[in-house]
Amino acid sequence: MAVGNVKSRVRSFFRPGLAKRRRSSNTSSEYEHKKLKNELTPRAHDGATDDGITVAVSDADGVGFDMQLASPFFHNLPIEIRRMIYNLVWAGPYDHKYHAGRSRHIHFQDGHWTNTRCVMYEDDEDLDLLQRNMDSIHTSGKGDLLMWQRRLSSTWGSRHWRCEERMQYERRKSVDRTNFVSMMLVCKRMFPEVVESIFESHQFLFNDFFSAHRFFVYNPSPYIPHIRHLDLSLNLPFHEYAPFIVGASKSRVRELWKALGRISCLHTLRISLDIYDRGAWRKIPEQRVTEQLKDLKVLRSFTLELPPSLPIKAHIPNMENLDAQEEAPFTVVRRPPLRYWQFAPGEVERFTWDMHTKGQQTHCFIALSRDARNVPNPYLLDFF
Ligand SMILES: [Zn+2]
Repeated sequence: MAVGNVKSRVRSFFRPGLAKRRRSSNTSSEYEHKKLKNELTPRAHDGATDDGITVAVSDADGVGFDMQLASPFFHNLPIEIRRMIYNLVWAGPYDHKYHAGRSRHIHFQDGHWTNTRCVMYEDDEDLDLLQRNMDSIHTSGKGDLLMWQRRLSSTWGSRHWRCEERMQYERRKSVDRTNFVSMMLVCKRMFPEVVESIFESHQFLFNDFFSAHRFFVYNPSPYIPHIRHLDLSLNLPFHEYAPFIVGASKSRVRELWKALGRISCLHTLRISLDIYDRGAWRKIPEQRVTEQLKDLKVLRSFTLELPPSLPIKAHIPNMENLDAQEEAPFTVVRRPPLRYWQFAPGEVERFTWDMHTKGQQTHCFIALSRDARNVPNPYLLDFF
């Protein structure tokens, strides 16, 4: 069944007189004004009258709305059936084309929220896909290594590089189109049910910490507890990790973890952590950062994605790997070690991770394959 048909049927079903009322102009608006004025006067909540038509209630802001009991949609159908109908309305013409049909990237840009469809394919779930493409270009000499290097170093994570490029270059607006706003504007009675359904039946993807913090902590929506599926790809600058290293209590990352803990019925959660440094040596203080994630309640699947486990020895205890810890209540997935990087502008080089032991000291180097040059760790964390 076409989506447009479902939406128009739903509308005509619960408000059959809508079109008729629109035709009568001045009289209608005057009627609506008087009705709204009446509804704003204090009344008993949920007080159904004999005719069951003119019942009004006040929401938390004191603004009245009609219970729409004359509508068969609200009067005859229980909330469970109404939820199933809303779920049908969200079906889109592109759902079959992409790996996750109900996934939306959420951003706070230019002072307002935007949501765009996730256009990743099933193959993009392979965390080594980008570097395997670079392998074939490196072997054959045909292809643009610089373009793939840019994707490899993207802060959107290895899965969503298509979504990022789409935002930057090509963007067919029709792919992003939703029925969200049109459904929310139908009537005040329907509004909360519609928003709850949107939150329950879509996966929310955040690719920047600023948007995630604003959405969950700074200015949270009252509908956040209805979120069921969440995916966070967070590339944090070092100053966001620093409070964990020195043991400071105040941290925006901690605030975000606490806010996630208030979502009572989370079904799937994936958190991908990385550092904004974007260098080949990058490493995060995993142990302390992920410590609070153990308290999160996730019903079905909880995955924590971390940078590769590199042979780097670290002085600071909090920089130790998660491997040394006891069993965690989430699945830990590590991205594959890097084997391509742009050490000099304009040139992408292939390398391996080499260990060099001298006496009791072991050092780790990046060994470039072409000119037998070693690149030492710039952070000197592997020195005893
Ligand atoms: Zn995506």
